[in-house]
Amino acid sequence: MNEVNKNALTKPLPTPDGDSQALWDGLKQGKLLLQHCDDCGHVQYYQQGMCRLCQSTKLRHQAASGNGTIYSYSVVYRAPGPAFKDDVPYAVLLVQLEEGPRMISSLVGKNFDALDFDVAVKLTTGAISDEICLPYFELVD
Ligand SMILES: [Zn+2]
Repeated sequence: MNEVNKNALTKPLPTPDGDSQALWDGLKQGKLLLQHCDDCGHVQYYQQGMCRLCQSTKLRHQAASGNGTIYSYSVVYRAPGPAFKDDVPYAVLLVQLEEGPRMISSLVGKNFDALDFDVAVKLTTGAISDEICLPYFELVD
């Protein structure tokens, strides 16, 4: 089996780097850390060395409430590769966090009939390796 075929059998893992290490450490503790700009107040999910709005480097991490709503979603029935074949069907969510940023994540469970725009969701996390926990969202009852 060549390297490409072997890679298709395993799910890709995120690679924490200097900008994102705090995010991954936070997720291991069940927290989604957002970057808050002390100069302009912008809040960002994608971890960077500077504010996307004003380029300030005065960013601090603050845990998100975990509350959000579904901005958009899609139910995946065809696995994007062999590594995902046991997961289908699953729902990919674009979540509007109450702090402002939107993020792509997945729904916990398969209650697809309940999916709709503006439906409330809540953050949860799940370990996919010893080092990596991913953020997921579940429907709020
Ligand atoms: Zn800023």
